[in-house]
Amino acid sequence: MDASDRTIATERIRRLQELAREAVRADRPDRARRYVRLARRVAERHRLTLPHRFRRFTCDRCDAYLVPGRNARVRTREGHVVVTCDCGEHARYPYD
Ligand SMILES: [Zn+2]
Repeated sequence: MDASDRTIATERIRRLQELAREAVRADRPDRARRYVRLARRVAERHRLTLPHRFRRFTCDRCDAYLVPGRNARVRTREGHVVVTCDCGEHARYPYD
C-alpha cells in the first residue's frame, strides 16, 4: 500500500461521511448506517484514523450517523459535550 492508496481511502471516507449525512437528512437512516460501516471498514483496512467529525457524529452502538436536531441531541455539561443518539447511547467528549 502506498501513499496514494491512503489518499484515495481518505477521500473515500470523506465522501461516505457526506453521503451518510445526506441520507439522514433524506430520512434514510439505514442507508446512512451502511455508509458509516463502510467508512469504518475502509479506515480499518488502510489503518487510517477516522476524521474527528466522523468519530463524534456516529453512534458506537448502532452505527447511526448523527445529525443534531434530527436523530441526536447535543448538550454541553460541565466542560463536556454530550451527544445522545436516538437509540439511547450517550457519548461524552471534552469541550473544545
Ligand atoms: Zn445509536
